[in-house]
Amino acid sequence: MSGKTDRAMKTAKDLLAFINASPTAYHAVIETRNRLNNSGYKELNEEDEWRLEAGGKYYTSRSDTALIAWQMGKQPAWESGIRLIGAHSDSPGFRIKPNAAYTKAGYLQFGIEVYGGPLIASWTDRDLSIAGRVLVEKAGTIQAMPVWIKRPILRIAQLAIHLNRKVNDEGLVLNQQQHIPPIVTLSNADEVVDRQSVINDIISEELQVQPENIVSWELELIDLQPGQLGGLKDDFIFSGRIDNLAMCHAQLVALQQVKKTPAATSMMVMFDNEEVGSNTAAGGASPFIRHVVQRVLESGKRPDHAFQRGLAKTFCISADGAHAVHPNYAEYHDSQHQVQMNGGPVIKHSARERYATDSDTTAIFKTLCKDVSVPVQHYIHRTDLPCGSTIGPITATNLGIPVVDVGTAMLSMHSVRETCGSADSAMMIKVLQRFFEKEDLWKV
Ligand SMILES: [Zn+2]
Repeated sequence: MSGKTDRAMKTAKDLLAFINASPTAYHAVIETRNRLNNSGYKELNEEDEWRLEAGGKYYTSRSDTALIAWQMGKQPAWESGIRLIGAHSDSPGFRIKPNAAYTKAGYLQFGIEVYGGPLIASWTDRDLSIAGRVLVEKAGTIQAMPVWIKRPILRIAQLAIHLNRKVNDEGLVLNQQQHIPPIVTLSNADEVVDRQSVINDIISEELQVQPENIVSWELELIDLQPGQLGGLKDDFIFSGRIDNLAMCHAQLVALQQVKKTPAATSMMVMFDNEEVGSNTAAGGASPFIRHVVQRVLESGKRPDHAFQRGLAKTFCISADGAHAVHPNYAEYHDSQHQVQMNGGPVIKHSARERYATDSDTTAIFKTLCKDVSVPVQHYIHRTDLPCGSTIGPITATNLGIPVVDVGTAMLSMHSVRETCGSADSAMMIKVLQRFFEKEDLWKV
């Protein structure tokens, strides 16, 4: 198997540590902040004046679920542009409804809503819990606190086969209102529950605050099984949220590994809400990226039109999952574009512009791979199947800059338990680091 060196396995374990620390986008941003703080990055608030210095390392976040981190280049940013990498912090799953608690047939249950496009059946009969963020009244102000309950308090139970005889032939069909609310505990069916206090009691106990001080929350269902290496020879990673925490991790590690300050500014972005279309304040379609990029390009002494001049030298790699060929469903993949796990980064193409890749951006990414002796693969969706999209086309539209959509190969995208190759992260990081450090992207 190619590329499964000691270094690659070390990277795979670090990726697992990152994912296992990040049950939600909110926690992924906390983990990223911690790692940035430990490597000399300084937090900036959007409301403050920024004094950016050559070589300086900074980050800022929005809505606590989107984050942009960058290292200023040696040259003024407008002069050499920004090397930008983007990924998304959110994963498909379920959100708890505001008035969630109700009793039915002797159980206490929570109403939940589907977030994005999860493979819903994969969430059944698993050890589930709750994580997210809670706003708490503390000393006269409202403060956000992360919450993560590490006991399996919820279950989406399947119907027994004896009551659903056709399930193995017809598949598990779940009505999203009726069949997915998890059971929480046993309860007298006639018991009148206070719909909000049930949840507030659970979180207040976890956070050691008074239930009446809880003002609001955003809570998700999470799977408690940690990600791990798998397969006979540890070829795989079995985990939730590989889409897209694997790429959040890869861009972060690449940024941290940048050695001498390059001429151009190096930047990574974690956008939220990709799984629901990116049209939010923290999503890829928001002006967040433009606001930060503009401030960076216009920092210090600058000529007229520094923003536009800098953008003209800015290039973006949008990194997200790619579909590896599935041996049991090989016919679902274009026969000439069957990408393999541990086969290196994948460039994603789409004539319908579901991916932003074009011949220029392909040339640059391919050359980066060649520079560091990493193999590269090409993915295209079957022509008769609608293709997914990602933040690449959105960023290209938002900033008007060249973008290449890439990713690492994975199976079961949007399952609660996805699979990717254990050697791919290290290869991707090598290429992303090269992207940050290479002086002239057009040089071969
Ligand atoms: Zn994704």
